[in-house]
Amino acid sequence: MSMQCPICRSHRVVSLDHAKKIGGVIGTVGGAASGVAGALSGASAGAEVGMTVGVMAGPAGVAIGSVAGAIFGALIGAATGGVTGAKLGEVIDQRVLDNYVCQDCGLTFGDRLS
Ligand SMILES: [Zn+2]
Repeated sequence: MSMQCPICRSHRVVSLDHAKKIGGVIGTVGGAASGVAGALSGASAGAEVGMTVGVMAGPAGVAIGSVAGAIFGALIGAATGGVTGAKLGEVIDQRVLDNYVCQDCGLTFGDRLS
């Protein structure tokens, strides 16, 4: 996508993506937390993977499996949460914030001006 500065018509315009970056971080942290919570309550894909591995390994493996499940849950939650957060942030960038800055005149502007 080629953006053009509405003032000086420069094409040296970069996007800031503040909300996208922040959304990605918040989504990753929140997703990891909910992934751990889901795994601990046995309600996530991570818990199922962990318990399956644990049961196959025997009684002692169940404890290890639940820990592994929490880790799997956190990883899965972080990955999905990060993507969701970044997507939400991208929408905020495009709809709400002035997401573009002209490198020639320094103007910041949003999609609604273009
Ligand atoms: Zn400009």
